[in-house]
Amino acid sequence: MAERLAIPDHVLSAIASQRQASSEPMAAFFYDLPALAAHGRAMREALPPGVELYYAIKANSEAAIIDTLAPVVDGLELSSGGEIARACACSTPRPWVLSGPGKLDTDMREAMRRGVEAFHVESLGEVARLQAVAAALDHQQPVLLRINPALPEDLSSRLRMAGTATPFGIDESQLADAVRAVDDAPNLALVGFHIHAMSHQRCEQRHQRLLASYLERWPQWRALARAPERVTQLNVGGGIGVNYLQPSEQFDWSGLCQALGQRLAAMDEPPLVRFEIGRFLSAFCGYYAIEVLDTKVSHGEGFIVCRGGTHQFRLPAAQGHDHPVIHLPRDPRQASEGERRSWTVVGQLCTPKDVLSRQQELQGVEVGDLLVLPLAGAYGYNISHADFLCHPRPDQVFIRDAREGSELETTSHRRAEPVS
Ligand SMILES: *Cc1c(COP(=O)(O)O)cnc(C)c1O
Repeated sequence: MAERLAIPDHVLSAIASQRQASSEPMAAFFYDLPALAAHGRAMREALPPGVELYYAIKANSEAAIIDTLAPVVDGLELSSGGEIARACACSTPRPWVLSGPGKLDTDMREAMRRGVEAFHVESLGEVARLQAVAAALDHQQPVLLRINPALPEDLSSRLRMAGTATPFGIDESQLADAVRAVDDAPNLALVGFHIHAMSHQRCEQRHQRLLASYLERWPQWRALARAPERVTQLNVGGGIGVNYLQPSEQFDWSGLCQALGQRLAAMDEPPLVRFEIGRFLSAFCGYYAIEVLDTKVSHGEGFIVCRGGTHQFRLPAAQGHDHPVIHLPRDPRQASEGERRSWTVVGQLCTPKDVLSRQQELQGVEVGDLLVLPLAGAYGYNISHADFLCHPRPDQVFIRDAREGSELETTSHRRAEPVS
């Protein structure tokens, strides 16, 4: 299966030059920024009229990733004071919204000062706090109420954010109270509703039905407001999945967009629909390249021990999947001549949980070879526990140009050694 995956030539050349620049075994992330821009542009171009695409930066909030996506999407979705700082440092200012449970008053204030477009409000308590902050700044603040809707069982996914007990949003049964609370708050203006119901949605048909179920209820939700004509936005969240196990079979984004377009065209007063996508935007541009330090057989199972590990790339452990692995032998002849067997790929941590992939059929693997884990651009390095065991942090290499041999920008996150 891994054989079907190809690494673009300019990424291979960046890996080679980065390797030459260091005498240490490699563990580094590579991000193909031209591919990221092209993918974002294609996603946006597929949108039907009246639909917008925001980037949920928690998937990958590195400055180069935000700078690359900002010009090709309609805006950014943020969930913390730290993310506000990153988005505001971006070279192309874009509209942005603030969501997430547990917002601090200081974040609310900072967001209003820095020109937040809208807040996604998660609870009745938050309505009251947001009103107090807005009143103190003498500010009029547009808000969307995040709904935790009742969902049919067959539409839910592995990582559920709604349709069940979660800390996110306001139960649909309490929505009327929440709408009234916003309508009664002099400094808040209800402009729409927000639903982010799931993660890892890999089925286009199911997602279509999910969006259809929101659109069916839209007129009822809207009718709860004192001024329904001002309630115009429906943010349908993110949650489009990446197929890590069969990388050639990915979510049919244009199919979803087409079906959504038809549905909206058939409505009397369609909302302005907004997606806020994280994973499906940034996953494809990232590669984690790790060098083979050792190979061994234990109780019949073959292990490849690599530089790095799940403390730098927690994604496979977090998801419980076997990440695809591409083998880059030092000597290309090895791959055809050496022994072929099934391997478990692990990192340097002193825990049996440090597994990146199992049952990888690879041929002629030797110490000094590289393994490359693709689809590493979302929820990769940034969700990892990088300081565990005090290993140095991996370099992150941002490839700005698809021409081979072009300049690379490397960000080192190596922790400073303690000063004695
Ligand atoms: C995480 C998150 C997203 C993005 O989810 P993806 O699965 O990465 O697309 C969008 N909206 C909210 C509210 C989120 O918490």
